[in-house]
Amino acid sequence: MKEYDYLIVGAGLFGSVFAHEVSKRGKKCLVIDKRAHSGGNIHCEKIEGINVHKYGAHIFHTNDKDIWDYVNQFVEFNRYTNSPVAVYGGKIYNLPFNMNTFYQLWGVLTPDEAIKKIEEQVKNSGIKEPKNLEEQAISLVGIDIYEKLIKGYTEKQWGRKATELPAFIIKRLPVRFTYDNNYFNDKYQGIPIGGYNKLTEGLLNGIEVQLGVDFFADREKYESLCDKIIFTGKIDEYFNFEFGELEYRSLKFEHQILDQENFQGNAVVNYTEREIPFTRIIEHKHFEFGKQAKTVITHEFPLEWSSGMESYYPINDDSNSLKFKKYSDLAKKETNVYFGGRLAEYRYYDMHQIIASSLKLSKIC
Ligand code: FAD
Ligand code: UDP
Repeated sequence: MKEYDYLIVGAGLFGSVFAHEVSKRGKKCLVIDKRAHSGGNIHCEKIEGINVHKYGAHIFHTNDKDIWDYVNQFVEFNRYTNSPVAVYGGKIYNLPFNMNTFYQLWGVLTPDEAIKKIEEQVKNSGIKEPKNLEEQAISLVGIDIYEKLIKGYTEKQWGRKATELPAFIIKRLPVRFTYDNNYFNDKYQGIPIGGYNKLTEGLLNGIEVQLGVDFFADREKYESLCDKIIFTGKIDEYFNFEFGELEYRSLKFEHQILDQENFQGNAVVNYTEREIPFTRIIEHKHFEFGKQAKTVITHEFPLEWSSGMESYYPINDDSNSLKFKKYSDLAKKETNVYFGGRLAEYRYYDMHQIIASSLKLSKIC
């Protein structure tokens, strides 16, 4: 009989949901995380009374009522709706691409006029079956929007040409012919009142958590402690990088406290020009409609990733996908070790998808 039923490597959202669910069934868990805090990338730090999203802006959205009810058991969510704006050439454009954007670009007033304009541009491009992000973007919204609002942002975000990126990345963004600046199509959306830490604390309440502990620093000890392992770290690291390292895109966040109440009037402002080195400025207080005297802003700089850096976005191109397939084949052969979350599954997952995937795993193992 081992000391724990489960060792959960990673106190991010995946690990926390899993630990919560199996603990409810009376299982004994140990959750470890190499960072000094739980929550993984949804962790917030309170600065000047403002919940600062330390690892990038996080907006919760889902179409699934069960997932929405699930998170609302732990913390109430507010009615925040993400409506970022883009700055290009000193002008503001609404996102996602909608009638406001089409009006700002072309002066068109009706959906028919906008559709006609886009269809004309798509036809001129000659693209029939989009094979990469550039072709996908042009066939969705035409060349003007691609050049002003997508190309520069995408190429600095990913550090690669848009022609070398997979089309699915741009399909995340809605295109609509209504005057609606809501960035998401989902039925439910919001920010936890009081910050994401309330969600993590609720999930991990009563569960043993050890922070500042790296699984690989004492792998054998941890393996001997438990019957089963839920691993939410990097899958390539688990297998000693046997097939080489999976590549990521990294980010640098520069947080600043400003002695003014309102810096940019919106939580998210994107800078779509290639020449501006950051992709967006986040003003955190607007996520919770804050009225504090000061404000905290974050410039988000995309960075070339190299070994040892924080791994944010998986690069799901052909060579990395092939490499990942080899690791996932090895993972299938493991007994009593289960892999989940954005690092172990090497997927560009949103929070609601992580929760759904963790709930599913918790029911079968
Ligand atoms: P993580 O949060 O990365 O947690 C994994 C944990 O494992 C980490 O805490 C790590 O320290 C720990 N760990 C790794 N290796 C080890 C080890 N060897 N030993 C011990 N611990 C280890 N989603 C949305 O729904 N809406 C958004 O607006 C949104 N915005 C985002 C913005 C950015 C910039 C990024 C990068 C992501 C965003 N996401 C968003 C996605 C969201 O962050 C993820 O879906 C979610 O947090 C992933 O949870 P996870 O538990 O899989 O991973
Ligand atoms: N994107 C863009 N211009 C923008 C915002 C997004 O071209 O102003 C593209 C870019 O390629 C980005 C993708 O759309 O990687 C997905 O954007 P999202 O805002 O969903 O990215 P995330 O918040 O996950 O970084």
